[in-house]
Amino acid sequence: MATQEEVFKKIIAHCKEYGFVFPSSEIYDGLSAVYDYGQNGVELKNNIKQYWWNAMTRLHSNIVGIDAAIFMHPTTWKASGHVDAFNDPLIDNKDSKKRYRADVLIEEQLAKIDDKINKEVEKARKRFGDSFDEAMFRQTNERVMEHIQKREALHERFAKAMNDNDLAELRQIIVDEKIVCPISGTCNWTDVRQFNLMFTTEMGSTAEGTMKVYLRPETAQGIFVNFLNVQKTGRMKIPFGIAQIGKAFRNEIVARQFVFRMKEFEQMEMQFFVQPGEELKWFEYWKQFRLKWHKALGLGDEKYRFHDHDKLAHYANAATDIEFLMPFGFKEVEGIHSRTDFDLSQHAKYSNKKIEYFDAEKGESYTPYVIETSIGVDRMFLSIVCSSYKEEALADGESRVVLSLPAVLAPIKACIMPLVRKDGLPEKAQEVLNMLKYDFKVAYDEKDSIGKRYRRQDAIGTPLCITIDHDTLQDNCVTIRNRDTMQQERVPIAEVYAKVAKEASFSEIYKKIAD
Ligand code: ATP
Repeated sequence: MATQEEVFKKIIAHCKEYGFVFPSSEIYDGLSAVYDYGQNGVELKNNIKQYWWNAMTRLHSNIVGIDAAIFMHPTTWKASGHVDAFNDPLIDNKDSKKRYRADVLIEEQLAKIDDKINKEVEKARKRFGDSFDEAMFRQTNERVMEHIQKREALHERFAKAMNDNDLAELRQIIVDEKIVCPISGTCNWTDVRQFNLMFTTEMGSTAEGTMKVYLRPETAQGIFVNFLNVQKTGRMKIPFGIAQIGKAFRNEIVARQFVFRMKEFEQMEMQFFVQPGEELKWFEYWKQFRLKWHKALGLGDEKYRFHDHDKLAHYANAATDIEFLMPFGFKEVEGIHSRTDFDLSQHAKYSNKKIEYFDAEKGESYTPYVIETSIGVDRMFLSIVCSSYKEEALADGESRVVLSLPAVLAPIKACIMPLVRKDGLPEKAQEVLNMLKYDFKVAYDEKDSIGKRYRRQDAIGTPLCITIDHDTLQDNCVTIRNRDTMQQERVPIAEVYAKVAKEASFSEIYKKIAD
């Protein structure tokens, strides 16, 4: 059995081999933590964005979208707190010269203890069988209790150090826990330093006339600064939301794990403006709606969990992450935050403008509170690819690699294949292709054996393969082969459009998650 790490390596190689993701500027040996999406990757990514955009803006009549610029006035980032506080605590190992995020090293240590606890629990579950009472076991087994105590103590110490911004204490925790560098194996650490994650560049052409500007580290601020524009021009009534999809940039120092942590990535964010006092009700609503949105893709309900934040930003009064089980553990894919009136108030203060909402029914003005849902397109992409990648042994002793992508997200919905490249079959195939291509992304393939062509489509997750053979010319029927079951059925050409539409259509999934 391959380890999870080996599986992950295979997935990365697969993404490259089949045109999903390439290292950026690869001919120059790439650029660390920057990636390009290839011909199939971009289709999958666009479908993810479409699913999110429509679920937010169509299923909610009170949510509208915008597309704000990446560059913003630099004061935006002073007001938002990013200039002063968008930092990672970094630590270097003096022997390997490798740099790490101190908080991540400690989180990994916590995860190790969790693993130990889970292993004990699983061992006991096997031993006791049906009569196993997990809660009781956790409360009474000495070894588990010891681990849990250790975990809680470490966790408390860590949360306090983070909350107090106590860098010396973070380092001390690493030393006390005997956390070693995975490369050098030593505990020879530097001090912990804060490092700001924002990229800067200059705007203007002359040296004296240039202004330092930032590449936005999140899309949210483009929404906040446009709050009044949208509210007034759209005559929006609270509660309402503004959605946006766009690039964000962070100078991530410890950028690993493929597209999970990149320096240039894409976010899908929505800010929902509510009356103060109603924020926790809406926080709960968005938690549930967003989880439903994820689960409706059918990747496996057990692969999701909420992770409530221990360290709340000073302005937040609730925050949770939706985590997905990646090959390297449960990891954050989306954050849901109750941000109070922090952002709008800060922009009001720094811009000297009144940013309030007049509630006609109440006859009063107030600064709305905000619930934010923020999801990374690339992390979503990764979770989908990882959970869809399968190596299957076939009955004939052969094997295949199949991406069992949710059909609605698949880059190509159907591939049309003439059995042979003669006898009028390519022309007939072209007819079928023409019937579909205006509404769906479809492909045409006439090279190699049918078996090889099926494998190529399996590897990129195409749900349907449509074969045109000699009989087609007589009976006007084609063979449709299903990616997952590999079953084939004979279907009249007149019914092909409806079959493809059924696979490609988001309608059913939208109906499932609509309130
Ligand atoms: P992390 O703790 O993993 O750095 P974060 O809590 O800083 O993430 P947020 O600021 O809440 O992330 O951003 C919202 C979403 O944007 C995340 O849930 C994630 O999906 C995505 N995201 C954040 N940073 C990156 C990155 N460097 N590469 C890819 N996606 C990212």
